[in-house]
Amino acid sequence: MSNFTPILPGKTIGLLGGGQLGRMLAMEGKRMGYQVICLDPTPASPCGQVSDEQIIGSFEDLESARKVAERSDVLIYETENINAQVVKELEKSHWVPQSSKILSYFQDRREEKTRLAMAGFPVVPYRITEKSAEIPALIDELGCPCILKTALGGYDGKGQWVIREKSQWDEIRHEIKDGQWVLEKMMNLTTELSVIVARTPDGSTRSFPAAENIHQHQILRASIVPPRIAPEIVAEAQDIAERITEHFKVVGLLAVEFFLVGDKVYVNEMAPRPHNSGHYTWEACYTSQFEQLIRAVCGLPLGPVDLSFPVVMVNILGEDYDKLEALIPHLSEEVKLHIYGKKEMAFRRKVGHLTIKTDKPTEFLADLTEKMGWDP
Ligand code: ADP
Ligand code: MG
Repeated sequence: MSNFTPILPGKTIGLLGGGQLGRMLAMEGKRMGYQVICLDPTPASPCGQVSDEQIIGSFEDLESARKVAERSDVLIYETENINAQVVKELEKSHWVPQSSKILSYFQDRREEKTRLAMAGFPVVPYRITEKSAEIPALIDELGCPCILKTALGGYDGKGQWVIREKSQWDEIRHEIKDGQWVLEKMMNLTTELSVIVARTPDGSTRSFPAAENIHQHQILRASIVPPRIAPEIVAEAQDIAERITEHFKVVGLLAVEFFLVGDKVYVNEMAPRPHNSGHYTWEACYTSQFEQLIRAVCGLPLGPVDLSFPVVMVNILGEDYDKLEALIPHLSEEVKLHIYGKKEMAFRRKVGHLTIKTDKPTEFLADLTEKMGWDP
């Protein structure tokens, strides 16, 4: 084991970020006997509701983050929207195993892509610019369709514009100021995959079973485990994810998202934290991604990650909630419900998810899609 003293139950985990990922981390942390304190600007945030304490403050504010750090034995960020400079300050005097360096790499799509490409990992064709006036020429270089993404702060399709034809540039150009932009070739996806890898400070790793991911409007709709694709391809993604984790010497978790085009695997993006496509691990793996992150940063051995049964996870967005609520009493008895306690059921924001043990993922999803009135 590593040379630091393990952080044992009774000690305090500080969470920078108080969304649903923090909430599930806090729930696992509390089960294991830790104290939990979180930082979030929204009072009674999803995580604040289940933590011992919440500091209300912005992710940009060093003083608020310091209040969390001073009460904590280990600090975990649960979102990339934490200011990396704030984390850099805190890590001078506090234990922040995920590190500000990793945060700064993975919160910026330009860094992420460039570092992956330089290390020889497969990424889709892309261009980087700070000048919006250069974008039309870059569209010509890559060809349509392509997709313009803000390098900083985008999530769930926010800060992304699909450009199917060059003429569409005229419709969106007024929205696109000079800034940090990544333009990517839009790929004709066969499907998407993700692999979450855990790594301890002394370098032992374990990767969770890969998930097949279905997106709608650039937001994850469902994850299916095991994926309905050839095992060799899944194994290739698993291998790439493990090599990336080792390459960056990530501590904690690294979620790697993949595009599959035919049988060619590309790395899409990465997140150094728990990931939506790993929510299935709560029910279906011996150790959940949340417990695994806590184990990794507290100096405990990583837990087994075997899949207990085939599973489907489905996201519930704000606009789905009323319909779902009416369905709850009639859902299959095997559905596990997770509702995050958000104050607002906002459009295209994740407010909960369902997990179901099933070896008929296609049929389950078709049935739920019909009941919920989703686009097939
Ligand atoms: P986010 O940070 O919002 O998850 P992503 O870059 O992962 O951003 O994009 C969200 C989703 O949009 C992807 O999972 C995929 O379904 C679709 N998408 C993004 N980039 C591309 C691309 N280059 N080609 C095809 N689909 C894409
Ligand atoms: Mg993504």
